Amino acid sequence: MRPDDLGIFMAADLLRSGGLVAFPTETVYGLGADVYNESAVAAIFDAKGRPVDNPLIAHVLNISGARECGEWTPLAQILASAFWPGPLTLIVQRKQHVPRIVSAGLSTIAMRAPSHPVARALIAACGFPIAAPSANRSGRPSPTTAAHVMDDLAGRIPLILDGGPCEVGLESTVVDATGMCPMVLRPGAITPQMLATVAGECQVADSVMRQLEEGEYAPSPGMRHKHYAPTARLTLVEGEDEDVKRVLMTLAKGQRDTWVLALDQELSHTEGLRFKSLGKDAGEAAHRLFYLLRQADEEGVERIFVKALSPEGVGLAVMNRLARASGFDIIHATEAYKESEGRI
Ligand code: AMP
Ligand code: MG
Repeated sequence: MRPDDLGIFMAADLLRSGGLVAFPTETVYGLGADVYNESAVAAIFDAKGRPVDNPLIAHVLNISGARECGEWTPLAQILASAFWPGPLTLIVQRKQHVPRIVSAGLSTIAMRAPSHPVARALIAACGFPIAAPSANRSGRPSPTTAAHVMDDLAGRIPLILDGGPCEVGLESTVVDATGMCPMVLRPGAITPQMLATVAGECQVADSVMRQLEEGEYAPSPGMRHKHYAPTARLTLVEGEDEDVKRVLMTLAKGQRDTWVLALDQELSHTEGLRFKSLGKDAGEAAHRLFYLLRQADEEGVERIFVKALSPEGVGLAVMNRLARASGFDIIHATEAYKESEGRI
């Protein structure tokens, strides 16, 4: 439905009466419920098929909305003042009156003030924070258009507000703001460098680029699950440009059901590969990645190779999602070439 006055009115009415609504944000589409309505929040887990240990994000209008749900900290104040509204989620201790189910039983709560005008109009019309994870079936790439939400959730939810394609295209940066130093649990468009500029320093959880062991504690529970995955098998290829090219020519040349994703300048002129552009830089790659993964599924692609990006700036977020989408299936091209003694 169009997100005009009537659309917002109907969506807020649904949320007020315990229903679910999918709505656009600047990161990805969210699937929302009244944060204070336990059974409505439980319905989000049902509709998504989401593991019950994977907490949601409370979407608020501003800092005073966040103070309503969480024990605000000086660090949260600094970060929110600099980056809200925007793609930054802050973790602080949860206040007792917020149902445990919102944070999947954790003592903390994740909160974010989105900048998207439709998300903001909806929160304002409701007058309460909206608990919302991404509006996809669990495990699938996050939806960056209303059509993606339809593909995954049609028949399971009563209303989707269609605000067009999402600007960022990747989920928010998740930062633990309970202590003195920001700790990035999930990278996103707000980079560690940007956080360090305002907070003086910034750490990145080592689980960001590593596969968690079975049963290992996950600082950001979403990282534990197979995530962001298309149906096609996805493999990351990293290494020197020439070595990556050699590996791809061996594995993907002439394969009709195989796509090769890379930044524009890197492989676009290579003949025989079904090249799909991730754009000119990491920011564009963030914007296009989930869209391309879903398009690959639609076109029945069976195999996707992605040339690794440099994990700097937004590149860290893109690589974090790709590593998980691949189930950590990563070819180290330069080593592979050396081991093959130049035969590739
Ligand atoms: P989604 O919006 O679908 O990406 O889901 C929200 C993500 O935020 C979860 O997968 C978690 O990784 C993260 N998150 C939410 N609440 C917390 C929390 N209290 N502590 C750490 N991470 C959280
Ligand atoms: Mg999600």
